[in-house]
Order: sequence, then structure tokens, then C-alpha cells
Amino acid sequence: MELEYRFRHKNGDYIWVLSRGRALHDENGIVTRSLGSHTDISARKRSEEKLVFDALHDKLTGLPNRTLFNERLSRVIKRTRKDPSFLFAVLFLDLDNFKNVNDSMGHESGDELLKLFASRIQNILFDVDTLARLGGDEFALLVESLDSQQRPVEIAQRIRASLKNPFTVLDRDLYLTASIGVVIYSEEYSTSEEILRDADIAMYHAKNMGRDTVEIFNSAMRERIMRRLNLERDLRQAVARNEFYIEYQPIVDLKTSKLLAFEALLRWHHPQRGLIPPEEFIPIAEQTGLIIPIGEWVFQAACAQMKRWDRLHDYMQKVSINVNVSGKQLNRPDFPSTVTRILDATSLDPARLNIEITETVILEDNPYTFDALTSLSKLGIRFHLDDFGKGQSYLGYLQKYPLSQIKIDRSFVANLPNAKEHDLIHGIIQLAKALDMETVAEGIESKDQEAVLKYLQCDSGQGFGISVPIPADEVDKLIREQSTMAPFRFSVK
Ligand code: C2E
Ligand code: MG
Ligand code: MG
Repeated sequence: MELEYRFRHKNGDYIWVLSRGRALHDENGIVTRSLGSHTDISARKRSEEKLVFDALHDKLTGLPNRTLFNERLSRVIKRTRKDPSFLFAVLFLDLDNFKNVNDSMGHESGDELLKLFASRIQNILFDVDTLARLGGDEFALLVESLDSQQRPVEIAQRIRASLKNPFTVLDRDLYLTASIGVVIYSEEYSTSEEILRDADIAMYHAKNMGRDTVEIFNSAMRERIMRRLNLERDLRQAVARNEFYIEYQPIVDLKTSKLLAFEALLRWHHPQRGLIPPEEFIPIAEQTGLIIPIGEWVFQAACAQMKRWDRLHDYMQKVSINVNVSGKQLNRPDFPSTVTRILDATSLDPARLNIEITETVILEDNPYTFDALTSLSKLGIRFHLDDFGKGQSYLGYLQKYPLSQIKIDRSFVANLPNAKEHDLIHGIIQLAKALDMETVAEGIESKDQEAVLKYLQCDSGQGFGISVPIPADEVDKLIREQSTMAPFRFSVK
């Protein structure tokens, strides 16, 4: 017979003992004596316990790890199934911009910060709640025995509030925020993985809401994520499958109505879902890096198209092409060489290429972007500042960067002839003049808007009122219909 048990020592520690015993019998089978030994196995027990502890805890913070968290979560799910009055929630926490700390102060400081964070959060929780580190800067919190649906959000807000004070690492005060996703248990869940996955999705939405936010999971979120993942998958194949095409929107001289340029606007015809607007897929292309091959395709296709139109009508040789470029493209060191390679290959005159960039690109003030703008402007390529007025419109950079045109955002034009927008546009045009830049108004839809812009001496314009973006073969038709040498004119009907 063997038995393991523990004693409590006077000093409060436990001592583990292994007792072995054997009974000795006489010839009649009657127990006469027992033989045995007692061994102190405390050391072995402690190392066994440590192994188990290590397997279930995060080394850095000492918190439960993912395995233990899942175990506890599974147990709680089982209990709730037996007793539906028992409510619980899972919070998924991800630190915002934690990578910056690692990058700028080193991994040791990052580790220190994680430890401080873990203990601060631990301090504001109840004992029954389980805070776990899932890995990196991701934490999960299991909140048991909820008395109301509101509680998890209150706890999340309490966590946010506790982060208002800085953490001191290497004598520096660091401020942390977290994005928090919340799942409140419902019967549809049967495994801990499902709950964690949805909490993660809610956290992802919180990040997208601008960080330092709390979001409660709902099933629409899962659909949005699935839609996004599917789009991402399809976008990877779209270039190879020729699913992109370009529409061209005329930009005209507001004084003479003559055609000055076409803006190339990318279109994605999805085989199942039909036309997907650029506002939906360009951000995904930017986040995944797919904007690089896609953007190159746009350049190539638009420049080649212009050369083809040159041959259809002499006047077309005076018309420029505007290509939209995202920051991800511009701040790559090889951007200038990509552009010049395409201009060479298509033999389009660089003076006919306008590149549209947004002010966010310039506000980043990336040295490659500045160099690209400088070197490409020297070749005769012009840069237009898109959507001006929509963002922060910090004016300091307008002088620093070689920009030749400001595109007045269509949100201003839409409200014309309102007095406030009238004054704003007037201001922008005066500013441009002072900086020796031209102005183009986006989104002109009515005669009234056109008239006001003309009156304010805006140089050029585009918009549905003048012409919607048109596919290349329709532009072909328009060009063929023109009498020789007559310039194209577009104006609001
Ligand atoms: P954007 O560069 O400001 O392009 C102008 C947008 O305004 C286009 O939307 C155009 O169709 C729309 N628009 C033009 N006139 C009017 C009007 O009178 N009323 C209204 N309501 N809208 C008008 P679209 O084609 O949906 O493009 C949206 C954005 O997607 C573009 O804004 C641009 O930022 C981006 N984009 C389009 N093509 C490309 C591309 O090839 N590369 C990159 N990086 N971005 C692109
Ligand atoms: Mg544009
Ligand atoms: Mg624009």
C-alpha cells in the first residue's frame, strides 16, 4: 500500500510524505505486524508542481497562459450549461502601439511594461476573475458571476481608467491604452475557442474604431470580418485575373470648358459580387501591400491608354492623365524608378503625367516621399494635392513640397452656394494663388456650383455634372465623334 499526503508544519509550510506499508501475517493468515516507511517527498512534489505551474503560466508576468485560460473557460461554459442563471463574459485586451515601445526602448523595457501592466490590471479585479496573457501584448480576462450585462463594459471602462496614469520604465513615463473586445456568453457558444475568437474580432473592431475603445461583439462583426477576409483573398488574384479596369473622369478648364486631363479611377469588377467601390478595396490593398502591384498596374494601363488616344486625335496630345497614388507606394525607395520605367515603356511624355496624393501622405513627411516628389518633378511630372480641406490641412508643408495643384474636396463643393463654403473655397483659392499653385474643384454637380467656382476663379473642375467617370471604349467613341482639331469641351448641362 502506498499513500501520498501532506502535513502542515508549525511554520505554516506543507510537508509532503510518501508512506509505504506492508502487513505481515502468521501461518493462519492473521495480521501480526506491519512494516513500513515514511519518506519526505516535499522537494519532488515542489518540482512537479513547478512543472505544472510553468506549463500553465506565462513566465514573464506569472499570469495564467492561453492553455489555462481555455481550461477555465471550458469549465465555466460547462457550469453555465447546467445553470443558465450563471452569466460570464470574456474581455480580449490588446495594447495599442505597444510595438513602438519595443522598437524605441528595446525589448527589456517592453517586457517591464507588460509586467507593470499585468499587475496593475490584476489589482483592480476580483479574485474570481482570471486575467491571462495570451501572448505578445494580448491579454484575456474571464469575468465570472456577472450580475448584469452591463458589468463587463464597466470593468472594461475601469481598466481604461486605470491606464490614465503613466507607467514608469527606465525613468520615463509611458502612457498605455488598450483596445478591448467583449463577448457576453450566449447559448450559441459551445467551446472556449469560439468565445475567444469572437472576443478577438470585437477587439479588432475596437482597434478600427480608433484604439482606446471598448466594443461588444455582435454577429454583424463576424460577417464583416468574413467579408473582409474573403475580399482580401480575392484581391490577391484580381490583377492576374484581369478583374480591374479604369474609368476616366474628364477635368476641364472652367473658363473655356476645354478638356485638360482625365483622372484615372480604378474599378474592380468582382466575379461574384459585381462592382466593388475603391473606398472598400483600396484600404485593404494598402494594408496588405497589394497596392504595390495594383498601383503599378494602374500606372501602366493609364499611360498606355493615353498613348493609344494620342493616335486617335491630335488634340489628345495636350491632355494629361491624373493617377492617384497612395502613401504606401510613394514612400518606397523604388517608386521613382517604377514611374520612369513605365513612362519609358509607354513612351508617354512625363509632362503629361499628374500624380494625385493626399495630404496624409505629406504629413507623414517620409524622406523617400520628399525625394520622390523632388526628383520626379524635375522630370516634369506634376503633383496634385487631392481632397484638400478634408483632413487637417496643415499648411506648413505646402511650401516645402513641390506641389502644382490643390484639389478642393468635394464636400465643400457639395454645399455651394452656401455662404460658409463659398468663403472657405475663396480662401483656399487665394492661398493657392499666393503659393503659385492652381486649383481644381471636385464633385461639381450643378450649374450653380460651376458658376460660383468660375466666379471665384477656380481654374478647373470635375464632377458628375460635367461628366461621370467613363470607361475607355466610351472615351474612344467620344474622340472619334469629334471633328478634327476641335478641342473637347465639357460643361454642366
Ligand atoms: P478621389 O481621388 O478623390 O476621386 C474622386 C472621386 O470622386 C471618385 O470616386 C469619383 O467617381 C468621385 N466623383 C467625381 N465627381 C463626383 C461628383 O460630382 N459627385 C460625387 N458624389 N462624386 C464624384 P471613386 O472613383 O469612387 O474613387 C474614390 C477614391 O478611391 C478616389 O478619390 C481615390 O482616393 C481612390 N482611388 C481611385 N482609384 C485609385 C487608384 O488607382 N489608386 C489609388 N491609390 N486610389 C484610387
Ligand atoms: Mg483623386
Ligand atoms: Mg479627391
